[in-house]
Amino acid sequence: MSDNVNHSQHYPRPPFPKQPQTPPGLASEMKPIPDHGETSYKGSGRLLSKKALITGGDSGIGRAVAIAFAREGADVAINYLPEEESDAETVIELIRAEGGKAIPIPGDIRDEAFCGALVEKAVQELGGLDILVNNAGRQQYCESIEDLTTDAFDATFKTNVYAPFWITKAALRHLQANAVIINTSSVQAFKPSAILLDYAQTKACLVAFTKALAKQLGPKGIRVNAVAPGPYWTVLQSSGGQPEEKVQQFGADAPLGRPGQPVEIAPLYVTLASDACSYTSGQVWCSDGGTGTL
Ligand code: NAD
Ligand code: MG
Repeated sequence: MSDNVNHSQHYPRPPFPKQPQTPPGLASEMKPIPDHGETSYKGSGRLLSKKALITGGDSGIGRAVAIAFAREGADVAINYLPEEESDAETVIELIRAEGGKAIPIPGDIRDEAFCGALVEKAVQELGGLDILVNNAGRQQYCESIEDLTTDAFDATFKTNVYAPFWITKAALRHLQANAVIINTSSVQAFKPSAILLDYAQTKACLVAFTKALAKQLGPKGIRVNAVAPGPYWTVLQSSGGQPEEKVQQFGADAPLGRPGQPVEIAPLYVTLASDACSYTSGQVWCSDGGTGTL
């Protein structure tokens, strides 16, 4: 993995400038702009001719996964919200410029009908589906349960819990033996922050979803795993995911003294998705800069 990324000391460290954005925010407006592997990720044919659907593939971890999968030889479809079109275009253009197939499918995954349509469009455009990455997420901090509205709670659960359920269900009709599902959970599933009461619950849901589904789909030869990121430098945090003072110090508490860059977690997704990992299912792989907690 180490030859895929720069040495960890080269990556930005806190303090970072204040940079509030309205959710979902744009990676292109972050300071510094995250490293999604645009110039640094090198593939080695580990996902040749695989077909992958990645939600939240416009920015952050999802963009890094899309770029890495494409460089490993996969065709990719990405979903994102319409207001993120400019971030999505950057990914699509980059992959296509390198000769890869990249399909943009904008739309809101809080809608069950759209989730079904998303899968059908991805399957139609890609000519099948081998890898599903449920990565999109909503994170809005709230200091007190008394201020957490039902609408906000509902939006977090619709995005982070219902959508992976709906998308996975729709995808199952198309997944064959050796297919792979990867869910993006979080260290919040195991060490919830006081201000992320709803978000942390959804990420714990994804761990249980991953483990139960791995048992259900094992007999069909379909593997299901989760990745649990620690602090990664993405627009999720600066568009209401954390208070701005925390964004300025983001990653300072990690033993490596900085947040991870999205490119640094993409290798976990590539490895889980590849046939080389054919006996690994029902697992949660963590990357959090060194706490050793999980
Ligand atoms: P990000 O903001 O770049 O990506 C999240 C994406 O979710 C957005 O780009 C957006 O396209 C998508 N999304 C949100 N609501 C949506 C909706 N209603 N319909 C369609 N798409 C929607 O941030 P990220 O940090 O790369 O987030 C990716 C995943 O990683 C999320 O599940 C997040 O919870 C998880 N995660 C992030 C961190 C971190 O520190 N950045 C830590 C742990 C887990
Ligand atoms: Mg985005």
